[in-house]
Amino acid sequence: MSGELLYEGKAKRVYGSDQDDAVVMEFKDDATAFNGEKRGQIAQKGVINRALTTRIYRYLEEHRIPTHVLAEIDDRRLLVRRLEMIGLEVVVRNRVAGSLCQRTGLEEGTGLQSPIVEFYFKNDRLGDPLLNDDHILALNLADESTIHDLRALALRVNRVLTPFLFERDLILVDFKLEFGRFQGQLMLGDEISPDTCRLWDRVSLNKLDKDRFRRDLGDVEEAYQEVWRRVQR
Ligand code: UDP
Repeated sequence: MSGELLYEGKAKRVYGSDQDDAVVMEFKDDATAFNGEKRGQIAQKGVINRALTTRIYRYLEEHRIPTHVLAEIDDRRLLVRRLEMIGLEVVVRNRVAGSLCQRTGLEEGTGLQSPIVEFYFKNDRLGDPLLNDDHILALNLADESTIHDLRALALRVNRVLTPFLFERDLILVDFKLEFGRFQGQLMLGDEISPDTCRLWDRVSLNKLDKDRFRRDLGDVEEAYQEVWRRVQR
């Protein structure tokens, strides 16, 4: 099923497939943080993130949000549409956490008046710096209508996912999305998992995401398993 290795990232590999317009995305157990400075493995992470991404993207599709997922191949691999990727990471935030604590001086967990959408330049060498719309236009990373559509799609994902997760006792604090085009149409690519979201227990506010790895909080595998258990409800 998998053809030649086209790309290897920190958490995934992408292979060619027997279809020109599709590729195979394989989820690894490797974990990195702080722009690759911290490295490790989280047992069964690839399997869980593959399963979570499939479940969540199917739910988003039911809510008319187009995604790249085509089919499940096995417990670590998905067949996905070959997208022309947009070189931006789109972050949506519902509460203050991570880099927003540093930028605002606000305490972790502080609620926001309205969700924030941010764009980051997808560039490991530069450490993915924050960009505003003018930077994106000036660097020709996307045009005005694409920026508008990315913001609208990211907020739609937030509106659909926040209640889906809350019903499963998970607070969606923030998350990162990546988009690309397939035959001109903007679609959600990459993954949605505890690697790319901050998820807190609704009652205890315990962290059930990659912050357990970033900050050496322990029980990392258990947290990923717990998210998968709840999402299956
Ligand atoms: N995020 C991600 N990949 C990145 C940077 C951030 O998936 O390269 C996610 C991160 O897990 C969190 C959200 O985007 O859910 C916001 O991250 P933030 O800007 O606070 O950066 P961090 O604290 O992760 O460095």
